[in-house]
Amino acid sequence: MNVLVCIKQIPDTTNVRIDRKTNNLIREGVPAVINPDDLHALELAAHLKEEMGAKTCVLTMGPPQAINALKDALMFGIDEAYLLSDRTFAGADTLATTYALNLGINKIEEDFGRFDIILTGKQAADGDTGQVGPGIATRRGYSLGAYIEKIEKVTDEYVIAVRRIDRGYEKIRIKLPAVLTITHEFAKPRYGSLPDLIRAIKYEPKVLNAKDIGADPKLCGFFGSPTRVVRTNVPPARKGGDIISKNDEPKKAAERLLLELKKFSAIRLVEIFNTILESDEK
Ligand SMILES: Cc1cc2nc3c(=O)[nH]c(=O)nc-3n(C[C@H](O)[C@H](O)[C@H](O)COP(=O)(O)OP(=O)(O)OC[C@H]3O[C@@H](n4cnc5c(N)ncnc54)[C@H](O)[C@@H]3O)c2cc1C
Repeated sequence: MNVLVCIKQIPDTTNVRIDRKTNNLIREGVPAVINPDDLHALELAAHLKEEMGAKTCVLTMGPPQAINALKDALMFGIDEAYLLSDRTFAGADTLATTYALNLGINKIEEDFGRFDIILTGKQAADGDTGQVGPGIATRRGYSLGAYIEKIEKVTDEYVIAVRRIDRGYEKIRIKLPAVLTITHEFAKPRYGSLPDLIRAIKYEPKVLNAKDIGADPKLCGFFGSPTRVVRTNVPPARKGGDIISKNDEPKKAAERLLLELKKFSAIRLVEIFNTILESDEK
């Protein structure tokens, strides 16, 4: 079985803050990391390697420094790593991203053999669209298992998985080849072993450019993107709050809180609170 994990290098969003004077994001000094959901996809690939002897590969599209994300990914014991990097890929929306990734996957398959399972994270913490996994599945005509948080069985023909839906969970049988998008509920990512760390340091990921994958520049990056970000704005700072009650008895504090809520026409909420209070008094 051959397994590919697509990962994205993103700015560590837990460190991105807003400069309220300029209303811009402060990106300086913000480290680049593997997108958090992708770590869980890598963990699944490591499981498949251990339990089924799967051959594993990792792919990212990004600038040259995305090599570091690939090296980090190798700590999961992944066998091979590929970087898709070319100026023409820059400024891609999700359609242009999946165009390049799909051609990159075709190219890698020439060396590696056909991928049975392609894993992505559920969504990237920066772009946040969650469209790349479904986009790759569509381009390749593969089954899609999105929002996967548990794998129950894997055979050469299918995967049985549990995915999250709006009001609960759904167990699905997904025919291979398939694209699975993995949520952060999937098993905790491991710490790499020392041999994997040493290998990651020495390993040179293979780099492919637009020509290598036979990409049409008109369909890549900014020019291949049907959507444009015409403006980005930082959300306005939230208004400061007031302390409604400091030293009151709990019941008194709750009453004050209710009065305040009424002012903000949180009517439905107030109704619920009233019902609770009435039933308490009885
Ligand atoms: C309307 C629009 C316009 C945009 N314009 C620009 C722009 O002008 N310039 C710009 O730099 N960006 C732009 N972006 C962002 C860019 O499109 C996204 O970063 C990229 O398409 C991936 O989408 P995402 O971040 O939402 O990933 P998601 O779809 O949320 O990612 C899901 C998963 O797909 C995989 N994945 C995502 N991206 C990659 C990748 N590059 N390599 C390998 N695997 C990947 C990962 O496993 C990830 O967990 C734009 C986005 C939108 C929606």
